Amino acid sequence: MTGRDMVRCDISRPDFYRLGLIGYPLGHSRSPELHLAALAAAGLAGEYRLYAIPPDDVGRAEIAQKVADLRAGCLHGLNVTIPHKQTVMPLVDRLSPVAGAVGAANTLYRDVDGLVAGDNTDVPAFLRNVQRLLSVESHQTGSWAGSALVLGAGGSARAVVYGLGQAGWQVRALARRVEQAAGLVAEISAAIGQGARLSAGELSPANLQAASAGCDLLVNTTPLGMFPKVEGCPWPEDLPLPEGAAVYDLIYNPLETVLLRRARTEGLSADNGLGMLADQGALAFARWTGLEPPFAVMEQVFSLSY
Ligand code: NAP
Repeated sequence: MTGRDMVRCDISRPDFYRLGLIGYPLGHSRSPELHLAALAAAGLAGEYRLYAIPPDDVGRAEIAQKVADLRAGCLHGLNVTIPHKQTVMPLVDRLSPVAGAVGAANTLYRDVDGLVAGDNTDVPAFLRNVQRLLSVESHQTGSWAGSALVLGAGGSARAVVYGLGQAGWQVRALARRVEQAAGLVAEISAAIGQGARLSAGELSPANLQAASAGCDLLVNTTPLGMFPKVEGCPWPEDLPLPEGAAVYDLIYNPLETVLLRRARTEGLSADNGLGMLADQGALAFARWTGLEPPFAVMEQVFSLSY
């Protein structure tokens, strides 16, 4: 701990949780609602602040200071969102295997030995919600694996492809820039190691049609259909959705995208990304407090009841 950290820590109270979110921009964030509800439900005092930090040199120094504040015990936990999920990785003292494999950390906390750890709770939150969508009871790796088609190859696709691939799924990732999908698949395959069954291709109607056969799960990780361009859809209008597949759209604004509406019209099970958003928060909260993840509390903030 540096002298400056010690001075800063004089104001900290161990019975008061100092939590927050680093990202940019943060105007729309619903994270404070989630975490304040969880603190209240657990009978804990604390705050959850939004740190809108731009991705420039001054911002990077500010983020490094936030990590130092965590290490010093002046902060108790941080969430990290776009565009800093990669920025924080070299700043922390250790990464969870999941964060290392995905190449992104969305949760920072002070470990029992006082070092700052980076974790990725998007992966287990996504898997929990897909299992719910597929009515899977068991969390056993491999026991519920099938064949998945993932649209997009950006930040959230990395968590999705890793989570499914690690759970034994065969995953085909399609992106408009085929090199992006290929890079993602190469990196995530290397992280999973032997047994990974991942492939990449271009997000084209022909590839979507070919990948539809035997597809058990379709996941949209592109922003197509997200507010304000709600008429967007990553699936061609004249192509039927994969027969019998469940459809998970990471978008949660609007609650029902064109893709989800089509899926339900075609009789498919479908869900939006709101449950994943709530559950990644619950898992982060558990890291910070040592309590059980308050899934139900956070899901209720979004009026979700499973
Ligand atoms: P990202 O890193 O920007 O990746 C988006 C992916 O979609 C990229 O492959 C991108 O390709 C592709 N894409 C963008 N516009 C496209 C278009 N018009 N046609 C085809 N492909 C397009 O974004 P992200 O962080 O992964 O987030 C993606 C979505 O997931 C957002 O809607 C976000 O809100 C949502 N999300 C939800 C949760 C949750 O908890 N539910 C968590 C994370 C993200 P290019 O690189 O070529 O643009």
